[in-house]
Amino acid sequence: MINSHLPTLSAEAYNELRTYATARINEGCQDWREQLLDDWMRDDRRQWGVLRAVRNTYGPSWLATFRFTEGEPTRPAKTKTTRSRCSHCGSAKPIGQSCGCFDNNSQ
Ligand SMILES: [Zn+2]
Repeated sequence: MINSHLPTLSAEAYNELRTYATARINEGCQDWREQLLDDWMRDDRRQWGVLRAVRNTYGPSWLATFRFTEGEPTRPAKTKTTRSRCSHCGSAKPIGQSCGCFDNNSQ
């Protein structure tokens, strides 16, 4: 379906959709569009403002076909330990990197 009769989505609305989608995905939601549809139906307060204006202008069938130009937001990987202890001095350092103490001592 071509929505050529619809106005171009504003950058503000795009960013709001992006923010909304990212937040839902970070909460573990599998389908942010479904969630937004639900919020639209219930007139949930988190879609008040720009997103409700999007609903009124574009509507659910538009949402089903809407795609972010840079692709869908993805859920960040589960937090991994990114720091470890230096085996030489015991200070915290990023995994896989030297903290520098050993290099400094050997110079
Ligand atoms: Zn060290």
